[in-house]
Amino acid sequence: MKLTTGQTYWDKTVKPTSSFPSLENDYHSDILIIGGGMSGTLAAFKLASTGKKVTVIDRAEVGKGSSSANTGLLQYASDTMFSEFVDKIGEKEAFLFYKMCLESMDELTEIASKLPETTGYRLRDSIYYASTPDDVDKLKREYSFLEKYDFPAEYLDHQKLFEEYGIEKPAALRTWHDAEVNPYQFIQALTAENLKMGVTYFEHTAVDMDSLTETAIMTDCGKKVSFESIIIATGYSKLYSELNGKAQMNQTFAIATKPIEGEFWKDNVMVWETKKPYLYFRTAPGGRMIAGGLDEESSDLYDDPELIQRKGQEILDEIKEMFPRLDVEIDDAWNSLFGISKDGLPFMGASPHQDNVYYLLGFEGNGTCYSMAGASIIQDLLDGTPNPYAHIVRPSR
Ligand SMILES: Cc1cc2nc3c(=O)[nH]c(=O)nc-3n(C[C@H](O)[C@H](O)[C@H](O)COP(=O)(O)OP(=O)(O)OC[C@H]3O[C@@H](n4cnc5c(N)ncnc54)[C@H](O)[C@@H]3O)c2cc1C
Repeated sequence: MKLTTGQTYWDKTVKPTSSFPSLENDYHSDILIIGGGMSGTLAAFKLASTGKKVTVIDRAEVGKGSSSANTGLLQYASDTMFSEFVDKIGEKEAFLFYKMCLESMDELTEIASKLPETTGYRLRDSIYYASTPDDVDKLKREYSFLEKYDFPAEYLDHQKLFEEYGIEKPAALRTWHDAEVNPYQFIQALTAENLKMGVTYFEHTAVDMDSLTETAIMTDCGKKVSFESIIIATGYSKLYSELNGKAQMNQTFAIATKPIEGEFWKDNVMVWETKKPYLYFRTAPGGRMIAGGLDEESSDLYDDPELIQRKGQEILDEIKEMFPRLDVEIDDAWNSLFGISKDGLPFMGASPHQDNVYYLLGFEGNGTCYSMAGASIIQDLLDGTPNPYAHIVRPSR
């Protein structure tokens, strides 16, 4: 299954740190991670940091899956508002979930600050605007919960939003502890650290997920890989039977613009909105803008350049309507699969059916934040350490 069609942007900005051999023989690893995207890379980083023997296997190349299609807006706020989670899972669990995300954002920031290579990681505030006047009350209710639990957020009325950011919308929330990143560079930098810590990598090695037992899995070439524990970090490549009825695939569209001279808007804040599916955009180094949206239900991609260009233009036109002075053109445009869950939560933790098997699937919009949280949860599960958030995102829920 293809994860992306069209031309993505980030993988053009940096060469891979290394290339890795394919697996030609039977093999054993204490911890085996399937998938070298953001999830597998962060899990390898966390686990190798505590001295564990880790191997990552990818059917293609490290970081070239959905992670290089990622637009790189990292936020603690989820696609599902805190207040919406209150209605779905109760206030206590909603608070815990948002706390997990805020802590994960701070952990990502700390990791990024220690990486020697450039990763495009930069703290940025986010503006979450009400798409219509009807959504203002929703935003006010959201703010009341964020304020109650001391999350970093401020309510901006129409006038303040326009005066500060030039955005003509009914109201917004400003949040911070958020960040932008070049996800491909970030993965490459982490991979370099993982190699120093002894993580082993194999690329161009697909495993047959249907051959999975509690102690081994087969590669498509018939090699047996045994393990003590396996982490399935295959992103949106497959909807596992454990997730039956709980998740679905969408397709989504994204663009990178050609560089422009001059300023975009105040503080280059990242912008998104209450409408679903939502439009989201940010700036990128070198005077570019990265944007995405227009999600539609779809279990496959069309590989249709005309569609990708047309949808990309729709995204750009919406942004130009907000900032008419911007004279921007599309450089790259892509179309990607995107996994969402019915309850708005990712799937991270032990398989309900097989011992030693863990899922790290960051479905939903701020997947990078979930990849970080899931890496910590799985580390705790492997170590037998209680984790305050594991029950909320467990795949068996
Ligand atoms: C257009 C778009 C925009 C997005 N924007 C954002 C954003 O702004 N912020 C954010 O936080 N998140 C965003 N996301 C979500 C984010 O990209 C995902 O959460 C993240 O990429 C998931 O990482 P992953 O490692 O789970 O998946 P991937 O990066 O897809 O990695 C999975 C890897 O598993 C490998 N694999 C799959 N099956 C097998 C197999 N059988 N054998 C071996 N290897 C296998 C694949 O080759 C792949 O490399 C966006 C996603 C899309 C598509």
